[in-house]
Amino acid sequence: MSILIINIKQLLQVHDSNVTIVKGDAMKNLPIIENAYVYINHDTIIEYGKMEDYRPIEADTVIDATGKIVLPSWCDSHTHVVYAGDRTSEFVDRINGLSYAEIANKGGGILNSAKKLQDTSEDDLFEQSIKRLNELIAMGSGAVEIKTGYGLTTEAELKMLRVIKRIKQESLAKIIPTLLAAHAIPEEFKSKKQDYIKYITEELIPQAAKLNITHYVDVFCEEGYFDIKDTEAILEAGKKHNLRPKIHVNQFNILGGIALGVKHNALSVDHLEELNDDDIEALKGSDTISVALPGCSYFISIPYTPARKIIDAGLPLAIATDYNPGTAPSGNMNFVVSAACVKLKLTPEEAINAATINGAYAMGISNMYGSITRGKKANLIITKPMNHYSEIPYAFAHNPIEQVIINGQLL
Ligand SMILES: [Zn+2]
Repeated sequence: MSILIINIKQLLQVHDSNVTIVKGDAMKNLPIIENAYVYINHDTIIEYGKMEDYRPIEADTVIDATGKIVLPSWCDSHTHVVYAGDRTSEFVDRINGLSYAEIANKGGGILNSAKKLQDTSEDDLFEQSIKRLNELIAMGSGAVEIKTGYGLTTEAELKMLRVIKRIKQESLAKIIPTLLAAHAIPEEFKSKKQDYIKYITEELIPQAAKLNITHYVDVFCEEGYFDIKDTEAILEAGKKHNLRPKIHVNQFNILGGIALGVKHNALSVDHLEELNDDDIEALKGSDTISVALPGCSYFISIPYTPARKIIDAGLPLAIATDYNPGTAPSGNMNFVVSAACVKLKLTPEEAINAATINGAYAMGISNMYGSITRGKKANLIITKPMNHYSEIPYAFAHNPIEQVIINGQLL
């Protein structure tokens, strides 16, 4: 199966050499070819260039993209797509003035999702979750990280991992599973948190690692959840099983989770709505990327990640949806790219870099995803006709996408 796309108005994020991350000022640069073609065979980008240099290539499918933009599909490096039911009642509570903490204290929040998930069969959970994933793919996401974390027991967490594995096998999209080993403290452990940490480090993590489905471990490092000491114990337990950290930090409070993540060579530190100069210093010179989640800030009305501070310090930034039933029930990366421009003050070029190549980096897959590069996987978005790629973030809440190609297949 080969696909040739011709007469592309703008082909975005084109790199002849295999760039795997863009940092700081370099994020302002989005390499493009005007009036371009791209040729893919099976699941791989084979060739691209200017139409004036185009020499006829035989292809099974030819797409005339006159007036349209082609770019790498979105790389959503932070989601909780696998969950059961929804939390619409909490949505109304929040409208009526309750805070995240108040909702959690009355049995809502993560514990609410955990109970629903524990009571849902593996097949049902799979059906609900793959439906959501397919919606994300239609909205342009071609690589998606999926976390566990609504299990809270070993049994339920292993169920989540098996569901993610099944999604990975059945979906064309690239799926990166993450073990969110410590997401909340179950009711029965409320007064004995240390026992729960022991359970996570000595039982949950070893058993989850044995399934060999994930390479990443995550912790919700936050006041009332897991403090620095807890987080370090969990990251160390993960390390014993070759699980690299990708952690939730600095959403509501600064506990020092960023420096801890860097110390443990975290691939990503996510959220960062609260951020100080020490955090920025800790990130400098590390291999850890910051991930902003503006959909979450929007939905629960908390501050937005000070992304300018991160990029202007010369650091890389990725953006992701945080798709989850409680704090960001949307997996639409087009909205996230727009919110990154409007609320995080990223330029369209920075936002697209953050949502493609840097999103791929935050999943450890940017050697094969996130740019138009010969030999990389053919995951592409073909937009509706538009004058310039800036219309993608500009026309917020519109759907800019006409077609997607995932793993070389036109959907
Ligand atoms: Zn999250």
